[in-house]
Amino acid sequence: MRKVSIFGATGSIGQNTIDLIQRDPSAYDVVAITGGANIGQLAEDAKRLRADVAVTAFEDRLEDLRAALAGSGVQAAAGASALIEAGARPADWVMSAIVGSAGLAPGLAALEQGATLALANKETLVCAGQLVLETADKHGARLLPVDSEHSAVFQALVGEDMGAVERIIITASGGAFRDWPVARLAHATVEQASNHPNWDMGQRITIDSASMFNKALEVIETKEFFGIDPNRIEVVVHPESIVHALVGFRDGAVMAHLGAPDMRHAIGYALHWPERRDLPVPRLDLARLGQLRFSDPDPARYPALRLAREVMERGGLAGAVFNAAKERALDHFIGQRIGFLDMSDAVAAVLDRFEGADGLIDAPMTLDNVLKTDHLARQWVDEAVLKRAG
Ligand code: NDP
Ligand code: MG
Repeated sequence: MRKVSIFGATGSIGQNTIDLIQRDPSAYDVVAITGGANIGQLAEDAKRLRADVAVTAFEDRLEDLRAALAGSGVQAAAGASALIEAGARPADWVMSAIVGSAGLAPGLAALEQGATLALANKETLVCAGQLVLETADKHGARLLPVDSEHSAVFQALVGEDMGAVERIIITASGGAFRDWPVARLAHATVEQASNHPNWDMGQRITIDSASMFNKALEVIETKEFFGIDPNRIEVVVHPESIVHALVGFRDGAVMAHLGAPDMRHAIGYALHWPERRDLPVPRLDLARLGQLRFSDPDPARYPALRLAREVMERGGLAGAVFNAAKERALDHFIGQRIGFLDMSDAVAAVLDRFEGADGLIDAPMTLDNVLKTDHLARQWVDEAVLKRAG
C-alpha cells in the first residue's frame, strides 16, 4: 500500500485527488489530509479515507474539527505548525494543493522526509524555486508537476534531452474577459471574474486566469521546474483549452499535449507516474471540436505577463514579492476595495518599492527570508490600498 497525504484536500484539486484515490481504496494508506475553513468536508473525507490525522490551517477551528471527528479514531490538529508536522509524517506521495504561499512550508517538510511531492501549488516554486529544488535534491525527493501545462511539458519531454529543447510554449485560455473591450475591464466585478470559460477550479485561480496572473505565475513555474531560460518560454492564447502546452525542439519539431480540460488527468499522471493507468476523463473528439484557435496575448489586456518577465530578470526574492503582492491584491479585489485593473498596478508598485529598498530582494533564499518578504509585501499592498482610499 502506498502511503499518501493530501494538502488542501477540501479544495478543487484536493477533491479531484480524493476522487481518484477512492476508486482504488485498497491501494492507498492515507496518512494526513488538510483543509482550511471547510471543517465538515475535511472531517467527512478523513473518516471515509481512514486518515491518521486531519489538520485545519486555522487554530480557532480545532474544537470544531475535534467534535466532527469524535469517535472516529482520526486525530485532529490545527494551525501552521500542525501543517508542517503533517508534511513531516512519512509518506510516499504527497499532493500539494493548498492555495497560496501557505503551501510552501508544508511542501518543504514533505520534501525533507523524502516524499514525492505532486505540485499543484505553483506558488511554492514562484516564491522559493531555488530553495525547493535544493531541498528536493538534498533529500533525494522528487517533484512532479500537477499544473496542467507543466504536466503536459513533462509528458512531452519523456525520453528527450533538455539540451534539445529550443522553447516551451504554454497555452492560456484567456480567462473570463478574453473577449471584453479593454476599456471595460476596470469595471469588471468579482462575480464576472469568477466564471472560467473552460475549467472548473477554485475561485482564486479562476480570477487569476481572468487577469493572467495565473499564467504569469506559470511562466515563472516553467522557468524553475524545467530550468529553462525565460526567453525560451512563450505564452499563446488558446480559447479551447485542449492543447495544454507544446515543446519545440532544435530540429524544428514541436510536440503538443492535448486533452480535455479535466484536472484529473494531470493529477492521475502524477499519482501513477511513471506508469499510465486508466483515468475517468472525457476523451477527445477532434472532429466534433472542429477547430483549435491560437493568438498572441494582448499586453494591454494582460499586464501581469510583463511583470512576470521583470520578476524573472530580477531574480532573488522577487518571485516571493510578486506572489505575495498578487495574493494580497486579490484579497482586496475579492473584498471589493479595489478594481480589477488595480491589482496589477498594486503589484507593480510593490515590486518597485522593494527595488528601492536596499538589499531586501537580494537576501539569501531561506524559508525565513521568504516568509518575511511575503509578509512585508502584503503589508505594502495594504498601505497602498489604504492610501488610495484615503
Ligand atoms: P481551492 O481554493 O479550491 O482550495 C484550496 C485549499 O487550500 C482548500 O483545501 C482550502 O481549505 C485550503 N486553504 C485555504 N487557505 C489556506 C491556508 N491559509 N492555509 C492552508 N490551507 C488553506 O484551490 P484550488 O484547488 O483551485 O487550487 C489549489 C492549488 O492548486 C493552487 O495553488 C492553484 O494555483 C493550483 N492549481 C489549481 C488548479 C485547479 O484546477 N483548481 C489547476 C492548476 C493549479 P478550505 O477550502 O477548507 O478553506
Ligand atoms: Mg495551469
